[in-house]
Amino acid sequence: MVANYRLREAPTNIKWVKGHNGHEGNETADALAGAATDKLQDDAIDLITPPTLRVTGAKLNALTQKLAYTAIRQWKAAKTPQQPRTRTILTLVKSQTQSLFNIIPTDTVIWKSIRSRDLEKKTRYFLWMIANDAYMTGTHWLRENYSPEAKERVICQHDNKTEDITHILVGCKSPGQELIWELAGRLWERKNGTLAWECPALGTIVGAGLAVLKTPKGARKSGEERLWRILIAESAYLIWRMRCERVIRKDNEPFMRREVESRWSFMINEHFQLDAHGKPEIRKKRSKPELSTCHMARATKNGTLGKGATASHGKLRGPLLDK
Ligand SMILES: [Zn+2]
Repeated sequence: MVANYRLREAPTNIKWVKGHNGHEGNETADALAGAATDKLQDDAIDLITPPTLRVTGAKLNALTQKLAYTAIRQWKAAKTPQQPRTRTILTLVKSQTQSLFNIIPTDTVIWKSIRSRDLEKKTRYFLWMIANDAYMTGTHWLRENYSPEAKERVICQHDNKTEDITHILVGCKSPGQELIWELAGRLWERKNGTLAWECPALGTIVGAGLAVLKTPKGARKSGEERLWRILIAESAYLIWRMRCERVIRKDNEPFMRREVESRWSFMINEHFQLDAHGKPEIRKKRSKPELSTCHMARATKNGTLGKGATASHGKLRGPLLDK
């Protein structure tokens, strides 16, 4: 923008106008900004500055530590080429998002969706790690300099298959993975989503934040999109945590069905509390809020909670799902 102004030969005057006051230019700018936030794909904007007008360096009196750190990170990220494993996963995210929601997101949109504030910080980190295939699983154990004992970890002790992240999250037959997706599916179908449930694939999990669900008239169903995000990402994260517990602490002893069910219900319960009271970051600063009967009623009406569920001491009691 600055470059564009510098290109002009006549002087440019900038004048302040009062916002939301019927000023034609201001109202139009408002409407355009509003319309832009609804766009699913970023516009291709020409951000190339002519070399003669390029301003380099930073204005020291306006530079903060945060700004400098962000710039360094962007600079480093631009220098690091995308790993082949990351590229493969991003391709999966794109094709699975297209088949589910009929949109093909750009890389930038995918990375942005992983940072969704609806998810816990740890879950966002988990999604980022699987998008980069950065967890030590599967064929990562086959590096040349690793000992034969380490190389054995490539195989799942439960069903003798290669234990990569896809196997852990959607393929392993050790009790946990299948049951958690079954519970998530039942909750989703109770919500009467426009989208029929099927067990997510790896690309669906990484792209959990990309859901686009619309009413027949074309309006976005933001509540359902949010439920999808939380259900898919947090369920996957629970599967991962329980698998690590099983392999590292419990010496591959399988979980009991009851324990899987209660841990999933507890996790969903925590998220409904967060949902009723706003973003997790905001909640942490305040004292623990009570879950009001009103929020409870709304959630039940929406079909997300079982009929016998009640609210007391800020917790939901009773069945989350009607069986
Ligand atoms: Zn397995």
